[in-house]
Amino acid sequence: MEVKLQNLTKKFPGRDRKKRLEVVAVNDFTFEIPDGRLIGLLGPSGCGKSTTLNLISGLVKPTSGRIFFGDDDVTDLPPEHRGIGLVFQNYALYPHMTVYENIAYGLKLRKFPKRVIDQKVREAAEILDITELLKRKPKALSGGQRQRVAIGRAIVREPQVFLMDEPLSNLDAKLRNQMRSEIIKLRQKVNTTFIYVTHDQTEAMTLGDRIVIMKEGFVQQVGTPQEVFHHPANLFVAGFIGTPQMNIFDAQLLREENGYYVELGGARVRLSGEKSARLAAGDVASQPIKLGLRPEHLMLTEEDNAIFASVDVSEMMGSAVHIHVNACGQDVVIVVPLGEEEEDSSLPMGQPVRFTFRGSAAHVFDAESGRNLEYRLEESLPPAEDTPSPAEPGAEEEPPPAEPASGEAEPAKPEESPEPIEPVTALGDPFTE
Ligand code: ATP
Repeated sequence: MEVKLQNLTKKFPGRDRKKRLEVVAVNDFTFEIPDGRLIGLLGPSGCGKSTTLNLISGLVKPTSGRIFFGDDDVTDLPPEHRGIGLVFQNYALYPHMTVYENIAYGLKLRKFPKRVIDQKVREAAEILDITELLKRKPKALSGGQRQRVAIGRAIVREPQVFLMDEPLSNLDAKLRNQMRSEIIKLRQKVNTTFIYVTHDQTEAMTLGDRIVIMKEGFVQQVGTPQEVFHHPANLFVAGFIGTPQMNIFDAQLLREENGYYVELGGARVRLSGEKSARLAAGDVASQPIKLGLRPEHLMLTEEDNAIFASVDVSEMMGSAVHIHVNACGQDVVIVVPLGEEEEDSSLPMGQPVRFTFRGSAAHVFDAESGRNLEYRLEESLPPAEDTPSPAEPGAEEEPPPAEPASGEAEPAKPEESPEPIEPVTALGDPFTE
């Protein structure tokens, strides 16, 4: 089922009712999700991911804007009439019921014939590989198994749209990886549209056909995992996607007859033809910039045309060494991959080194607004005032609404609103199909 969001906005009343401050949880979000795709909604805590999902599910009513499933306007439909399947972080299984009964419960309430229920439950169990667990009670299951049961409960309802809100957050790292691949497999077996909320970039990158990156209610960029990684629309996205985080420098962009150059710490590097062409198309002039360089794109060198640095710490990561250096008056991380035979490439503290980078790996951002200067103005994205630290898993999370007896979800928890957020500007998406 195709899902269309049209100028979707959700404002919550603020805590201070006298001043009538309000929180803009989702701001003027327009987006089309083609049938059968998985869209990851990604961003730090409080950016509006869950509110967006709750608007799509009908648990929260929009302040303005419309939601369409196919050609049907579902904006005013209650959740139980939207044909959705919901899976939350807190899987809320009924402890006194077996796995079979938990999965069957919603169908039983809807008075499906026993035979149909049995068939649906067994099919779902087969898909999720939990047939042998059907007689167990939830307390005798691992976290991953419980989450599969919760997914099974949603599958039997044959949803047109599957909505998942941080479904793997309660699992430990190993289980999370395992369940991630389970969800990839599930998609091949269940042909429906998935919308998946997460603050974990790995989850969004590995699962999503498209990723929507949000900040303070505003969409920052929509793109494939490759697009958001290789062409971040602004400093916020650049800092949010990629581990270790992208290094950001104050540098100089130079426009010359034969293309563009960046100057950093005495080094001068010519940008790739593709990058120069994009900058030239936007008639970008020579100017001070924020230069973004991913740690894995920095190379140690003996060349003179390089940035001089001194080593702080070397972290041996197994397949690579993360070398933290001090360069241009700031901390910089360089990832040095290790070959099969190499034992260690750690460098002692204080050792002088030089590094450089290829012109194809340089990301050029406006020094003031943080916008990627490769985008023309009409494609421009909102400014990002800061680069975030990757969100802490589970930070500031509240338990999601428990599914009530009917198997439908209840209105989301009312949450006290924080200080109002200054909206940034509207979005254009350079990459949507
Ligand atoms: P998290 O990852 O922490 O769940 P999120 O990105 O899903 O965060 P939302 O839960 O959508 O963020 O919240 C977006 C903003 O709206 C936050 O500032 C939050 O405090 C506010 N908000 C959400 N629900 C309510 C509510 N019922 N009442 C008031 N403010 C709310």
